[in-house]
Amino acid sequence: MSILEDKNPQRTPLSELGEFGLIDHLTQNFSLANPSSIVGIGDDAAVLSDGNERVKVVTTDMLVEGVHFDLSYAPLKHLGYKSMIVNFSDVYAMNAVPEQVTVSIAVSNRFPAEALEEFYDGIHLACKMYGVDLVGGDTTSSTSGLIISATAIGSATKGEIILRSTAKAGDLVVVSGDLGGAYMGLQILEREKAVYRDNPDMQPDLQGNEYVLERQLKPEARKDIPELLKQLEVRPTAMIDVSDGLSSEALHLARKSGLGVRLYEDKFPIDPNVIRLCDEFQLDPTVPVLNGGEDYELLFTIPQDDFEKIKGNPDLTVVGHMTEEESYYLISKDSKAHPLNAQGWNALLKKEVE
Ligand code: ADP
Ligand code: MG
Repeated sequence: MSILEDKNPQRTPLSELGEFGLIDHLTQNFSLANPSSIVGIGDDAAVLSDGNERVKVVTTDMLVEGVHFDLSYAPLKHLGYKSMIVNFSDVYAMNAVPEQVTVSIAVSNRFPAEALEEFYDGIHLACKMYGVDLVGGDTTSSTSGLIISATAIGSATKGEIILRSTAKAGDLVVVSGDLGGAYMGLQILEREKAVYRDNPDMQPDLQGNEYVLERQLKPEARKDIPELLKQLEVRPTAMIDVSDGLSSEALHLARKSGLGVRLYEDKFPIDPNVIRLCDEFQLDPTVPVLNGGEDYELLFTIPQDDFEKIKGNPDLTVVGHMTEEESYYLISKDSKAHPLNAQGWNALLKKEVE
């Protein structure tokens, strides 16, 4: 019991709101008062301007031990790398380029300095690979697990910025790379962890699964895709990165743009390794594609007229289109329409609260 008087006796479970409902609920009374705040809550990053042609974007993400990562199988160096990538990915999703990052950590004293050095080696490598400067942060103690919060700052010209909210009816929905790999990597790691727990003499069997393990443990941000699109002279009308699964991200693009969306199951780009593993785990590959998350690909919309420019590119796949009617459907391989829903974090939250 709190020693303070309880002013609001209502007890709404967080699972009732879900992640996005909670953010909306908590931030509904905030509006942007400064002319320099161009885009606030609701996109992959905020957009700030001091009136010049170039604008800044800012995005922040937190990773919590036991929720986002498990140190029994995530090497600290990879974790440092990944904690940068998740932020850089949001900057690329605005069609901006990341330039600076701050990193804040809460650590328990169970970590020796060498472990944190490894973690920072990963941060260093990611910063080097993506041309980003580490410019600050905060360090504090934690009574439980490791908590990592990073904030990335990027820049672009005002005209280059691409929002989630500007897709047009009839636009094609395009995704880079392939989807579902990170989720299957996690399944392998969880399986081997369970085997090890039951029999510590057993060595983890990770061979042959390098592709999905890398997708999970050491993902990359799609720095190359905005560059490729520029070369192809294609300007997406809206863009988002795939952190929570195709379903959730396509719904964001549609809802923010005041449109509907149709996704076509037979078009989903899936790596053969993912198909093989889904078979092994008796899982429909559509599940990790729609709800797996953490693939850090870019999902964007383009005018139909630009189809010829991207056609045949092995890195770009048309997976659907936007509709005037505000309804959201997955068209399965047997041509049936199924309502799209966003699971990902919402489902996770329910599990946690129970
Ligand atoms: P992403 O998956 O691209 O990182 P999120 O789904 O985490 O984006 O967040 C959606 C939007 O809500 C972003 O604009 C983010 O800045 C904002 N947001 C998330 N949590 C909070 C919070 N606690 N307070 C204010 N804004 C938030
Ligand atoms: Mg994002």
